Amino acid sequence: MAKGNIFLRFPGGKYKALTLSYDDGAPADERLLDIFNAHHMKATFNLNAKMLGEGLKEAALVNKRYEGHEIALHGLNHPLYDSIPHATIAYETMHDRELFEKATGRIITGMAYPFGLYNEEVFAAMKAAGVDYSRTCAATHAFRIPDNFYLWHPTCHHNDERLSELADTFLEKKFTDDLYDKRPMLFYVWGHSFEFENNNNWELMENFCDKVSGKDNVWYATNIEIFHYVESFRRLRWNLEATRVQNPNAEPIWFTCCGKDYCVKPGETLKVDNEGI
Ligand SMILES: [Zn+2]
Repeated sequence: MAKGNIFLRFPGGKYKALTLSYDDGAPADERLLDIFNAHHMKATFNLNAKMLGEGLKEAALVNKRYEGHEIALHGLNHPLYDSIPHATIAYETMHDRELFEKATGRIITGMAYPFGLYNEEVFAAMKAAGVDYSRTCAATHAFRIPDNFYLWHPTCHHNDERLSELADTFLEKKFTDDLYDKRPMLFYVWGHSFEFENNNNWELMENFCDKVSGKDNVWYATNIEIFHYVESFRRLRWNLEATRVQNPNAEPIWFTCCGKDYCVKPGETLKVDNEGI
């Protein structure tokens, strides 16, 4: 018997999620944070301990600046990860992690590759350093959740000429009977705050946030919040026919199957009415 597909839904049963990722810890982060906070948007900030320099000593200041947002790794010295020895990749990642964890008291397992560069060697180093995910700079112009979180390709950079068109597509998309339309959508925008200073185009981000914020069917989350939720969804235990599911996680998980929405609570086992596509 043909069984229905199981589609992830974000917390609260939402179809869509939006996340932002900003690199290098520039002073202009302050202004960018003001914009995000005013719009209740969540972002991840990828920082290099050596580039923050003395600033890192003021742990309280780092925590306060990025309060409510994720602090993630970006290599201690921002090197080319495809052009340094394997052990140095691990060192650059681990030492960045160690310094920021000590400074902030947070558990930090997110990452963006400096310059977006990686090769096959990098993945073992990410694992060794306890990194959960790492972002590249390769625009997909799509809204997919990554299969491999060490290759988390963003939808686009904020300067992408398609940004506004992608925002419209993301907001207007309705979940129809088309199978492909039932998949969850993740809109992922990245950049550097100093680019708004250099290009004198802060209004670009103001306008983007005005457009995409405050939507009831969108989950605004940091990168690590999305990673944790998707991993929890993937950990759900199913029987072979996908008619019974158990949630071994500490958080409720939402999904939809055969036109019916489900929420499986922590520790709960649910019967799923799964009789076809
Ligand atoms: Zn960078």
